[in-house]
Amino acid sequence: MGLLGLLLPSRCAGCEVPGAALCDACRDALVRVAPPVCERCGCPGAWPVRRCVECSGRRLGFVRARAALVYEARARALVSAWKERGRRELAAVLAGLVGEVVARPAVAALTFVPGDRERGRERGHVPAARLAAALAELWDVPLRPLLVRTGAASRRQVGLPRADRAANVRGAFVASGIPPPTVAIVDDVYTTGATAAACATALRRAGASRVEVVCLARAVR
Ligand SMILES: [Zn+2]
Ligand SMILES: [Zn+2]
Repeated sequence: MGLLGLLLPSRCAGCEVPGAALCDACRDALVRVAPPVCERCGCPGAWPVRRCVECSGRRLGFVRARAALVYEARARALVSAWKERGRRELAAVLAGLVGEVVARPAVAALTFVPGDRERGRERGHVPAARLAAALAELWDVPLRPLLVRTGAASRRQVGLPRADRAANVRGAFVASGIPPPTVAIVDDVYTTGATAAACATALRRAGASRVEVVCLARAVR
């Protein structure tokens, strides 16, 4: 926290009311992902299914992905405040939200999607890394930075169609060490699953046998 952060009272990231980093009203208004969800990708639907229209026929590299929030207007504003305006103190609050909705994964370690070097410098922090650290504490699971970017992804994922997203991130990540057999990757937002899949594939190539994904929010079409 910078000097300003120490001097100014904390404000809610949702409504700017002075007080907690996220006020009770804003917290309650966030839309939780409610069961039943697709067993693999976590997409909510009318029935519990093993595969859904969104994930069937796709090689994703992970066995399951789960998210706490539906990525609608309020979650979008919250994530944007957290990511773009450096609301660092939100990480623990957001980890608490994830813990409310997502069961603790049965894995030997948590890791995270590494930040884009250029954008990381811009913001001075990597939100997924902070969320992963807060979740590691909440769930009492070791946190291990296991992934690095290769520099292969040329464009930002935001705004790209699904097929382009998969191609854009293919080979964009490699494992930086030998991962434990079971790992959960933490990320902020699950959009098409392309980034999570590329990270999971990198961990599988390095020897992990079971990879899960935990995200704060999830796009629901
Ligand atoms: Zn609020
Ligand atoms: Zn699915």
